[in-house]
Amino acid sequence: MIRRNTSQRQIVIDSLACLGHATSDDLINYINNNYSNISLATIYRNLNILLDEKQIKKFSVGDNEVYEVSKEKHYHFKCVICNNIIDIPESVVDLKLKDQKRLDKNSILDCEIIFTGVCENCKNKN
Ligand SMILES: [Zn+2]
Ligand SMILES: [Zn+2]
Repeated sequence: MIRRNTSQRQIVIDSLACLGHATSDDLINYINNNYSNISLATIYRNLNILLDEKQIKKFSVGDNEVYEVSKEKHYHFKCVICNNIIDIPESVVDLKLKDQKRLDKNSILDCEIIFTGVCENCKNKN
């Protein structure tokens, strides 16, 4: 039983690594096309374990929750035409707080930024 769970978890993380960024629907489609059928419940259970272990990350893009394999800090760019999500390295973004005092006693831990625009592929199609 433990072995079976481990290999399903490996399938989930391998699939996510291939897809880059994926919603649970993307993952289910990919897994069902490339591996045996795994139930939605099993995929969610494995996603939650992987999140707990910090092997993967989850972030929101509009109404969607998107998963990706954990890697160094970065931001995201979403193409408004093809909906593709692209990583933006932290080094190209200059983020400054203008007025620290207005945060009162709140402590910032992290920041998610989603840039939107038209990706290179879609731009070249026109
Ligand atoms: Zn695009
Ligand atoms: Zn990313």
